[in-house]
Amino acid sequence: MPDRSIVSSFAPQSRTPKLTLFQLRKLVIATRDNALESIKQCKFKRKPRKKPTSGLRYDKRTMTLRGEQLTLSCIGKRVKLILNVPNYFREIYNNWDFRGATVTYTKQTRQFWVRLVFEHPDPEKLEHGDVQGIDRGLYHLCSTHDGKFFSSNKIRATQRRYLYNRKQLQQKGTRSAKRRLKAMSGREKRFMRDINHCVSKELANQPEYRTFALEDLSGIRNQRRGKKLNKWLSSWSFSQLEFFLGYKSVALGKETAFVDARYTSQRCSRCGNTNRANRKKSRFHCRSCHFEIHSDINSGLNIRDNYFLSSAQIESEEQAQVNEPIVTASR
Ligand SMILES: [Zn+2]
Repeated sequence: MPDRSIVSSFAPQSRTPKLTLFQLRKLVIATRDNALESIKQCKFKRKPRKKPTSGLRYDKRTMTLRGEQLTLSCIGKRVKLILNVPNYFREIYNNWDFRGATVTYTKQTRQFWVRLVFEHPDPEKLEHGDVQGIDRGLYHLCSTHDGKFFSSNKIRATQRRYLYNRKQLQQKGTRSAKRRLKAMSGREKRFMRDINHCVSKELANQPEYRTFALEDLSGIRNQRRGKKLNKWLSSWSFSQLEFFLGYKSVALGKETAFVDARYTSQRCSRCGNTNRANRKKSRFHCRSCHFEIHSDINSGLNIRDNYFLSSAQIESEEQAQVNEPIVTASR
């Protein structure tokens, strides 16, 4: 939230700094946690870069929020700010739990920003609802077992364009080309994030479904699947959709499940015949029962069936565990 009062109240102070040991300790701890997180984020692969305007984190012990007055411990004194909460955030602001805040500084506009973090307990899980099988692929971002398609034509066209432009700029290699490259990478990421948000929101908001079954594709990356598919499987935008759908469904009391991905595209969803020849691109034609369907819908149906199979398996295992002691006792 940009706020004039925030800018003015952070003016450099000429007084000698007075900070209690307790406050200093908390601020140091917050800084340490920040540093550790950024190391974890890059998984120790490279040295994290320190930005000159990194954020300063506050938690409940170093700040207080009363109504719309926020008090921060700063060097020298406690700074009181009156927040200007937009109507859009009113509901969250009044009903959710306040956890902490981050103060950041933007060099260009010379403004301080306060980001407030709120927490909300997960809603209770829905009792009733169907299972939707979701198949993901190169040509459709995802498609559901009941025939909803999210085409990735537009995405592929955009990504091709970015790839081409990137190549051209990399060959040039001048300073301005590098600047353009950096701006471009941000734009491409935002484009993909927007699409992933839209698709996952539409999927999660379907009222008739409670569980979303997806293929577990984490283990099959290294198999012979072709260069294109492997590249797409390991891309961040691919896992981003999973992540978005996961948290959006939890917020609605729904859930996502990952199921066995083997043979989902080759098996007939009606008779179970598994044959590589069953599928020809987007057309699925079973050699055994002559069932014809779009191959992505067939995969979606198989994924849904795999979910039912695995959940039935878990249930029977649980029952076996419950029954075991009774059996041994009767002997
Ligand atoms: Zn069949």
